Amino acid sequence: MENIAYYNGKISSIEEMMIPMNERSSYFGDGVYDAMFTVEHVPLQLDDHLRRFYRSARKIEIEIPMGFDELRAMVLDFCKKVDSPDQMVYVQATRGVGMRGHAYRFADGKPSLWIWVKPDVLDPMDRDYKCITMEDTRFLHCDIKTLNLLPSVIYTQRAEEKGCDETILHRGDRVTECAHSNVHILKNGKLKTAPCDNLILPGITRAHRIAQCHEMGIPVIEEPFTVEEMMNADEVFFTSCSALCCRITEIDGKPVGGRDPQLIKRIQDAAWKEAMEEVKALSPSVR
Ligand code: PLP
Repeated sequence: MENIAYYNGKISSIEEMMIPMNERSSYFGDGVYDAMFTVEHVPLQLDDHLRRFYRSARKIEIEIPMGFDELRAMVLDFCKKVDSPDQMVYVQATRGVGMRGHAYRFADGKPSLWIWVKPDVLDPMDRDYKCITMEDTRFLHCDIKTLNLLPSVIYTQRAEEKGCDETILHRGDRVTECAHSNVHILKNGKLKTAPCDNLILPGITRAHRIAQCHEMGIPVIEEPFTVEEMMNADEVFFTSCSALCCRITEIDGKPVGGRDPQLIKRIQDAAWKEAMEEVKALSPSVR
């Protein structure tokens, strides 16, 4: 099938799925989500993404109405059913349905579970990316993957209007992350990336690139860095479930990076190798 959607036990195409008006996600963004990409029908870092999904839900006191193993099996089954081997997988849990009222007690019944899988492809690593910067005016719970994404929608719109791929956010001088990815710099052979606090989403892809740098003997510094440091870095790149390691060569119209092409290529090659190993390991589950 072309795509597939699940909502509280109902299954259909994404376009045909109907959601009740009183879903708390539409009134309050009262929910959490996670997303991942597949290669050859295999969702990359599936377990890590699902673990973060349950962790995000716990942080806002939503109990996802399906156990980890059952959800994992359902996701793998959906990835098998969708024709395209390259897909985006989306899971979402909300506090459920109920007449509009802020307190939890207005949600009648149980939390809602949403899943969909549709064709999509990873961002290529063999091209350069352009970004803009904007002040990070989001709330102070950026570590939780909530549905409250209005700032990210606006940041992404501004980037698109300028013919760019992403918006890099900063609070004053301090670079935090991007609208929908984490940003990192290479300087003097070391990887520098913002620490995991409440100002950034602890990206799964970020964690994997860090672990691989450790394995490859590339020193990693998890400390805040400034906009100036970024503009003067040897290389700048962003990561997300769709962007395993995407090199940024222009920020706010100025050229950046380009001074350590070998190191960034090593990191990109390692990222692709890890993805291929995962595809090989999980392939039997999706065939
Ligand atoms: N930061 C933000 C704000 C994001 O929305 C995302 C992904 O959606 C990321 C970082 C990257 O996270 P991951 O690598 O887990 O996809």
